[in-house]
Amino acid sequence: MTLLVLGGTSEGRQLAEALAAQGRDFILSLSGATRSPAQTSGRRRVGGFGGRDGFAAYLKAESIDAIIDATHPFAAYMSVRSHGVAAELGLPYLQILRPEWVPGARDCWIAIASESEAADFIAPGQTAFLATGRQTLHRFANLTHAKLICRQIDPPVGPFPFANGAFLVGRPPFSVAHERALFQKLEIDWLVVKNAGGAASATKLTAARELKVPVLMLRRPEPPDCARVSDVAGALRWLGKM
Ligand code: NAP
Repeated sequence: MTLLVLGGTSEGRQLAEALAAQGRDFILSLSGATRSPAQTSGRRRVGGFGGRDGFAAYLKAESIDAIIDATHPFAAYMSVRSHGVAAELGLPYLQILRPEWVPGARDCWIAIASESEAADFIAPGQTAFLATGRQTLHRFANLTHAKLICRQIDPPVGPFPFANGAFLVGRPPFSVAHERALFQKLEIDWLVVKNAGGAASATKLTAARELKVPVLMLRRPEPPDCARVSDVAGALRWLGKM
């Protein structure tokens, strides 16, 4: 049985290692968004499939028998599209979706549905740390009255798209101490975050809580209507029952 793992997350990497350890036949697929992705065991391919038809053609050409979607909770297009194609072809499809973060009593979070809502909360002259990634940076175009800092994994290839901001390069994971020191040094007033979930990237939320920095938390997009587990162990159990 050949398995296709749609990756781009720590779960995708962990699943690849677990499948390699079990001697399973699998291909890990990465979008190519990160220039130097972490090494993993087993077969891997990089880059988009060329849309819906390209994806369907790839599944047939590689004789894929089942798909595990370990893409990021905000890679919603990929998940919905891939599930749709798998359903058409009658292929088993499982999504690994980490539980959402939920605020505790000492957290000051405001949920927002889109990046453009951030401008309603951030006052003129304030500094916002955008932990939301470079690919969706353009969605903050109406936040012209604040200072913006956008963290990304790769060194920037071009200038910041707006006059009021700068990139900051950093490769996760980051410790709470690192995040706290960084936020203090940058004197941030707001943290803007996607509700990605997961312990590794929650350190920025702990640092914000400790520093009493308010958080604008982007709500998740709708996931596909498919079988779902919350972690790699669940995915391995699903495979074991096939
Ligand atoms: P997206 O908007 O849902 O998908 C855009 C296109 O990227 C897809 O149509 C597909 O191209 C290609 N693609 C996405 N994931 C792929 C994969 N695993 N293998 C091959 N092609 C893939 O996705 P996105 O939000 O830009 O995310 C891109 C990648 O970054 C994903 O793998 C995701 O797991 C990872 N990531 C995303 C975020 C985030 O906040 N969105 C955060 C961390 C990591 P074709 O149509 O040509 O097949």
